[in-house]
Amino acid sequence: MTDALKTYMSRNVPRYTSYPTAPHFSKAIGSKEYAHWLAALPPEKPVSLYLHVPYCRELCWYCGCNMKLAKKDAPVAQYAQTLNREIDLLAGHLPDRMAITHLHWGGGTPTALVPDDLERAMQAVRANFNITADAD
Ligand code: SF4
Repeated sequence: MTDALKTYMSRNVPRYTSYPTAPHFSKAIGSKEYAHWLAALPPEKPVSLYLHVPYCRELCWYCGCNMKLAKKDAPVAQYAQTLNREIDLLAGHLPDRMAITHLHWGGGTPTALVPDDLERAMQAVRANFNITADAD
């Protein structure tokens, strides 16, 4: 085991499924502060983008994730539209066309979205950001 792994494994930290992590959520931080932070990002530095799909078609018994069971397609399709609006809204607050070096889909189960909705989300990303050739 590496020293870095030993260091992080020995710490008692919150489950890292959101940023900021839940203990740091506060009513003092609202949309104004968030927009300000986004606008202040250095335009020359690349960003990482995380796309969350909080739906699964079946429930795993060990699940501790922030997800909803979706037996019907309608809520998932509606979420896909909201996700695209969110991508546009987020990009509207950032410096113009930032570079993305890491793009991560998570959930939930991202493939709960139908292929067309996955493609539309990627189109929204490409319309607003430059995904670098060596991006993960
Ligand atoms: S979020 Fe992951 S662990 Fe939870 S039900 Fe969906 S696939 Fe299973």
